[in-house]
Amino acid sequence: METTTVTDRLWCDLSKKEILMAVPKRKMSRSNTRHRRAQWKASVPQLTPCPCPRKEMVVPHRACTHCGLYKGRQVVDTP
Ligand SMILES: [Zn+2]
Repeated sequence: METTTVTDRLWCDLSKKEILMAVPKRKMSRSNTRHRRAQWKASVPQLTPCPCPRKEMVVPHRACTHCGLYKGRQVVDTP
């Protein structure tokens, strides 16, 4: 008589769907983790001058926060 346990069914489901994924072989050492994280650095954002008279420096691909211009077009109403 065949009986299936919960783990049997789980194994079958896993083998059918092939949802196995890559798993690290070893735990990464605290030293390695800290060395990697030490390479994290903040970068200075690249700014471009807005075409408005104030020539505010704005982040590219964003509307100017002062005049609401984007590509020389008014996209945001400013008070
Ligand atoms: Zn502007």
